[in-house]
Amino acid sequence: MSKTEEIKELYGKYVMQTYAQSLVLAKGKGTKVWDTDGKVYLDFLSGISVLNVGHSHPAVVKAIQDQVAKLTHVSNLYYNENQAKLAEKLSSLSFGGKCFFCNSGAEANEAQIKLARLWGHEKGKYRVISMKNSFHGRTLATAAATGQTKIQKGFEPMPEGFVYAEFNNIDSVKELVDDKTVAILVEAVQGEGGIIPATDEFMQGVRALCDEKDLLMLCDEVQCGMGRTGDWFAFQVSGVEPDCFSLAKALGSGYPIGAIVSNEKLANVFQPGKHASTFGGTPLACAAALATIEVIEEEELLDAATRSGDLFKEGLEAFIEKYPHAKEVRGRGLMLGMEFDEPVKPLVDKMTEMGLIALATAEKVVRFLPPLNVKDGEIEEALDIIEDSLAEIYGSQTAQEEAGA
Ligand SMILES: *Cc1c(COP(=O)(O)O)cnc(C)c1O
Repeated sequence: MSKTEEIKELYGKYVMQTYAQSLVLAKGKGTKVWDTDGKVYLDFLSGISVLNVGHSHPAVVKAIQDQVAKLTHVSNLYYNENQAKLAEKLSSLSFGGKCFFCNSGAEANEAQIKLARLWGHEKGKYRVISMKNSFHGRTLATAAATGQTKIQKGFEPMPEGFVYAEFNNIDSVKELVDDKTVAILVEAVQGEGGIIPATDEFMQGVRALCDEKDLLMLCDEVQCGMGRTGDWFAFQVSGVEPDCFSLAKALGSGYPIGAIVSNEKLANVFQPGKHASTFGGTPLACAAALATIEVIEEEELLDAATRSGDLFKEGLEAFIEKYPHAKEVRGRGLMLGMEFDEPVKPLVDKMTEMGLIALATAEKVVRFLPPLNVKDGEIEEALDIIEDSLAEIYGSQTAQEEAGA
C-alpha cells in the first residue's frame, strides 16, 4: 500500500467524515506544496486564506521556534508581553480600539456577538441582522448568524436572535431593524458566499443606519482581512469603520489564533469573568501573529496583493471572452472568484490534477486565494494550468463559435 493510500485508509477508519478530502499533503514552501508521492502543486488556496505570507515563511518559522523554547503558554490570569504587543499592533492598524483573543474564526465571531448582546442587554436589544449567503462559523451561534440554511439544517432548534437581510441591499437591512436589534454583521467581501464584495454604498449605508438607530456595526474579516484584498482589513476600502471586527485565518500564518478588535464604545464592555478562552492570545500564538504582521509590512504585501491581484484578474478575464460558460471574475486584491454558469467541481478537479490547487465555492465559483507574496511567474504558471484545464473541460471553442457565428 502506498503512503497516500495508507493515510487515506486511516482517515476512513478513525477520522469523522466532515470533509471531502482529495490530496495527502506533506510539505509546503512559499506558494508550493508537495503531496506524499512528491508531486508539486501551486497552492492558490493557501489553506483558505490562512497562509497569506506563504507556507513556512522563514521569519514566521523562526519566531515560532524561538518562542516555543522560551514560553508557550500562560493562563490569561497573567499578563504576557506578546499579547500586549499584538493588541497594540492590531489596534494601530485599524482604529485604535481594544482586542480580545481566542483561537478561531467562529470563536472570534461568537465573541463579537456576545459583546454586542452584553452592550445591548440593559436596553433589551439582542437581535443581530446578518446577510444571506454569509458565513460566520460552525458553532451554534455563528451557524445561526450564517445566512445559509444548509449550514443549519439538522441542528435545529438554532439559537434565537438572528435574522437575514439581502447582501448589498440596504433597504432590506432597514426593513429588519426593530427595537430588539442590537447589531448588523457583515463581511466586506463574502468568501464562502462566492467572492462577492460589498459595495461602498452598502458599507456606508450600514454604518449610517447603525449611527442613526444606535446599533453596532460588526465586520467579519476572518477570510478577507490581513491584507488579502490589498488593505489590512477589507472594510477599509469603503472608508467606514465598524464598531468591532473579527480576525482569525491568516492572523497566525497557520498557528491558530483569533481576535476581535473593538472601538471605544465597546472597549470596556467585557469585564473580568464575562468572557474567556484558555488558549486565547498565548505567547506562542501572538509570536506567530506578530511575525506574520511584520512580514506583511516588510515585504509590502498590501501593495503586492493589489498589483498581483490585478495581474491575475486580467489573465482570468481573458478566459471570459474565450469560454462562454465562464461568466464573471470578481473580487479585490488576491481574493478572486470566477463564476461559471454550471458547477465547477470537474474544472477544479482538473486543475488539481494539473498541479494547481483552488476551491469550488457556492457551487459555480472557482475561488482563488494565493499567498500575497506569490511571484508573477507563478501567476503565469497558474493561468497556463487554468487555460489547459478549461480547454480539457470545455474544448478550445470560443464564445463566437458557441454562439453559432
Ligand atoms: C473561515 C471563516 C469563519 C470560521 O472560521 P473558523 O476558524 O473555521 O472557525 C468565519 N467567517 C468567515 C468569513 C470565514 O471565512
